[in-house]
Parts: sequence; C-alpha cells; structure tokens
Amino acid sequence: MSNKLQGKVAVITGGNSGIGLATAQLFAKEGANVVIFGRNAETLKGAEASLEGRGIAVQGDVSNLADLDRLYATVKERYGNIDVLYVNAGVAAFAPLEASDEAFFDRLFDINVKGAFFTVQKSLGLLNDNASIILTGSVAGQVGMPNTSVYGATKAALRSMARTFSAELVGRNIRVNNISPGPIVTPIFDRMGLPKEAIDDFSKNVVTQVPLGRFGQANEIAQAALFLASTDSSYIVGTDLVIDGGMTQV
Ligand code: NAD
Repeated sequence: MSNKLQGKVAVITGGNSGIGLATAQLFAKEGANVVIFGRNAETLKGAEASLEGRGIAVQGDVSNLADLDRLYATVKERYGNIDVLYVNAGVAAFAPLEASDEAFFDRLFDINVKGAFFTVQKSLGLLNDNASIILTGSVAGQVGMPNTSVYGATKAALRSMARTFSAELVGRNIRVNNISPGPIVTPIFDRMGLPKEAIDDFSKNVVTQVPLGRFGQANEIAQAALFLASTDSSYIVGTDLVIDGGMTQV
C-alpha cells in the first residue's frame, strides 16, 4: 500500500456494507483512521472488526439529526477533526410514477437528500481546512430510466450539492466532489423488496446497456473515492466522477 491517507481521519456513512465497506477497508489500509456510520448494529460490528484497529463504528440513521450530532460528538472525542467525509449512505427503491406514494417519496428524500445535506452541514465545525468531501450520486440522476423518477431525483440533488457546497467551502480549500456509480455489485438490490426474478431481469437488462458488459465491483468505486480523498485530486473541485463501465458516456 502507498499510505495515501496516512494519519488522516475519514468518516464514511453507510460504511458497513457494499461500496462504503470496501472504501472503509481501503482507506484503513492506506493509513487512515476510519469512522463508519450505519443503521445495522450487527454488520457494523463485523465491519469494525475488518478494519483491524484502524477505525470505529457508530450506529445511527442519517435522516435523524440527533444521530448525526452523536456521530460527530464521537468523532471529536475519539479523533478530533475530519480530513475526509464520504457521504455514501443511501437507499434505492424503484417504482413507476403512478405508484410512487408520499411515504415512498419521503423515505427516499429523507435518507438520500436530507440525510446527505445534514451529514455535511453538521460536519463543518470538525472539518480541517483542505478536507475532501465526497458525495454519492448515481447514473440514475443523469438519464431517464423508467421507475427511477424519485430515486433519480434524489441523486441529481447530490450532484447539485457538490457544486454549491464547493462554492461555499472552497475558501477553506475544502474540495467537494460527487461520484456517480453505474450498476455495482452490492446488497442494495436485495434490499429493494423485489422478488429474485425481478432483480435478475433488471440486472440482465442493465448489463446490456453497459459497454463493458458487466456490473462494477465495490472496490472499483473505492479506488475512485481514494483518488478524490487524497491529494492526487488536489485540483478537482465540484466535479462528477462517473464510474459506470461507459453506460452513460459511450
Ligand atoms: P448498500 O445497501 O450495500 O449500502 C448502503 C449503506 O447505506 C448501508 O451501509 C446502509 O446501512 C447505509 N444506510 C442506508 N440508509 C441509511 C440511513 N438512513 N442511515 C444510515 N445509514 C444508512 O448499497 P451500496 O450499493 O453500497 O450503496 C452505497 C451508495 O451508492 C448509495 O448511496 C447508493 O444509492 C449509491 N449507488 C449504488 C449503486 C449500485 O449499483 N450499487 C449505483 C449508484 C449509486
């Protein structure tokens, strides 16, 4: 390893699963102390153990502002300030326009948009100058895939926040960027409440739209997050890094 994050403190929301977990493990290997935040106490415990002493887990819900206050109180007490904030926690759920009711809309916006917004806002007092913030959009925020009007809108909001937060924080040399993953192999699809056949059909259909002809792996996003977290990306501010096997670009 190249110790690109030696001595840095990184906070990763949703660091107990999928992309967040792969990134937490990579950041820890690169020398960071990592604080992971997520809802599931059991997977948090396993994820914390996998960091081999280079991190701690805090349980909570990003859409609950008191939980975010508790997260940052713990970070402050344990590590002081923050160098890298990866706003990764999110949920996916797909439904046609006519079947997307108010509860469905509110759940996605509460977690993906409100949760992300206050994860950043409440970190401000702990962020070091020169910190890197990484937000999480999606290809669904950029193209018109059927059944993703609510999910896609939450992710388009994240891309917008990367620009506006950058404008407000650049005076402290804090860089904010967005990652827009394409289809990545993680447990997110199993959590959508769909029958296995529906997920299989969806996956088969998506792969036909990816020039590289496959799903991405969580580690392929983690490597990009490492790039944006480290000084390797020191001149990159407010951008969107699309990592989708060419799905929206070719
Ligand atoms: P995942 O389900 O494996 O991980 C999501 C993480 O977010 C989990 O750790 C979960 O605990 C956490 N989380 C969810 N709701 C939360 C809440 N209210 N409070 C705290 N933590 C919460 O999924 P993943 O695929 O690793 O997703 C990570 C991010 O990447 C998400 O924002 C997702 O929308 C985005 N994304 C994923 C894909 C993909 O194909 N996997 C594509 C585009 C974008």
